[in-house]
Amino acid sequence: MEHECPTGQPYYDLMKLLQGRNYHIMTTNQDFQFTRVVSEDKLSAIQGDSRYYQCSRRCHDEIYWNKEIVYKMNDAIDEHLCIPPELIPRCPKCGAEMEPWVRGYTFLEGRKYKEEYHKINAFLTANKDNKILFLELGVGRMTPMFIQEPFWNLTYSLPQAYYITINPKDALLPQELSQKGWAIKEDIAAVLWDAAALMSGKGDSVCII
Ligand SMILES: [Zn+2]
Repeated sequence: MEHECPTGQPYYDLMKLLQGRNYHIMTTNQDFQFTRVVSEDKLSAIQGDSRYYQCSRRCHDEIYWNKEIVYKMNDAIDEHLCIPPELIPRCPKCGAEMEPWVRGYTFLEGRKYKEEYHKINAFLTANKDNKILFLELGVGRMTPMFIQEPFWNLTYSLPQAYYITINPKDALLPQELSQKGWAIKEDIAAVLWDAAALMSGKGDSVCII
């Protein structure tokens, strides 16, 4: 039986805004909701993707599609909230427990991880001289080094770049970007909903999230 959570409305509204534009999405979300609305060549999941398992010992550079085993484990949960030990996923090479391929102390930064960065870097290289919008959605102050600070630096250094952050609590605009940015302290879902409703469907800017 399938138990998939529905895709949030903001994802659909965002894609409506990006329709027909040249864009790339970089996300630290690990819940793979973006993969439901955008093709993976336009997506860089730089903190992993919980649809995959990796060896907890990182004994080899391979990640494994885990949907079937996750459903199997889910269906086997008994009244004590346990599963049979033989269902615990094990590394095919060393026998260690597998774990989701997401940022943590043992996060595997191998081939797939490098590919994710390669996609965003190739996009930036190709578009750095164009009019470009760095749109930041919901990045908190806990891990600013992955998206927020690179966006600030790129907006500052690229001549035609502009920065928008939407965040109900942590919408920050550095002094240096006061002429090149806008901090919107509002609920992201509401802003995207309104923007999608207002959209004219025209524009030539490049968007990154
Ligand atoms: Zn292993």
